Amino acid sequence: MIFKNSPYRTRIIRRKRCRTLVADLMKEVRLTTVSECNICGSKSKTILSNEDRYGIPVRTAMCDQCGLVYLLDRPGRDGYETIYAKYYRPLVSAYWGRKVDNKHLVQHQAGFTDKLLRMFDGILDLQNAGTLLDIGGSTGMIAHKLASTYGLEATVLDPSDEELAVARQKGLKTVCGFIEDYQTSDTFDLILFLQTIDHVYDLKATLGHISQLLKEDGYFVIDTVNLPSVIADNTGVDQFFKIDHCYYFTPQFARAVLEASGFEIVSSDIASWPGHEMFICRKKGPFQAEKTHVDTDMARFRFIEMVEHQFYLETTAKDKIIGMLARLKRKLLR
Ligand SMILES: [Zn+2]
Repeated sequence: MIFKNSPYRTRIIRRKRCRTLVADLMKEVRLTTVSECNICGSKSKTILSNEDRYGIPVRTAMCDQCGLVYLLDRPGRDGYETIYAKYYRPLVSAYWGRKVDNKHLVQHQAGFTDKLLRMFDGILDLQNAGTLLDIGGSTGMIAHKLASTYGLEATVLDPSDEELAVARQKGLKTVCGFIEDYQTSDTFDLILFLQTIDHVYDLKATLGHISQLLKEDGYFVIDTVNLPSVIADNTGVDQFFKIDHCYYFTPQFARAVLEASGFEIVSSDIASWPGHEMFICRKKGPFQAEKTHVDTDMARFRFIEMVEHQFYLETTAKDKIIGMLARLKRKLLR
């Protein structure tokens, strides 16, 4: 049973499936090391992992000053364009051992939309027809449902034109590209930023940009992976770090960075999607990076302690497998 359930063995199998893709990616994409925290500018950090879940040798660190968890070694913007165009879906598919394509995405998003509407129930006040921007909106499934529910005019922004083609078939306005590059004079009543914040290249600039795109009385809806929660799941620390995720969030840091970015959290939800925290925000004021510190150092220390404990558990699992193999070898040689 230990072979079936061990996260260590699962990781070996997954990485074997990704090995060829990773080798090709490493030949094509050049990595550079980030010198300072994107939010507070501190150079001081704690390394949390030396590689990502695919086996790519990129380190992830936590800022010692503000608590932002970020990818320390990463490709440049052009490198990410190559990754999204050639490697992203194949890597995800190889990792999970099943094809992750548009059909899968549509099914996944359909299930999530109902939960989202339930979460908005009695909180979002969008009586008058307005505008919706879904950043990283993929096939437009969520934007389409919300647009028809609230009578909104929806725009879907995504770097994948293949996924946007599905959104266009639904009659949605689409923009192909990254949020950092999106230039418009339009402002929006509702901005969705779901499963996307981890992917942005410049977190500080992105949050500032979104604040400008949001109408004064608009709503900003964002989700983050609750990093301590998923790491506590005991399936291997580096299983949650990925080359396409430049940033990760503890609940304390997510709240601090949203508030420092000029948003007021009016509601949050941990029930709709295990391991994720959703925030409904309104506009409050301008971005203030100096207010991004987590409340106390204890939150950071507790998190680092948890990561260390998970590494210990992984080592124990690895030792158990090595011990079993050694015993098996002795038995066979008898
Ligand atoms: Zn920082």
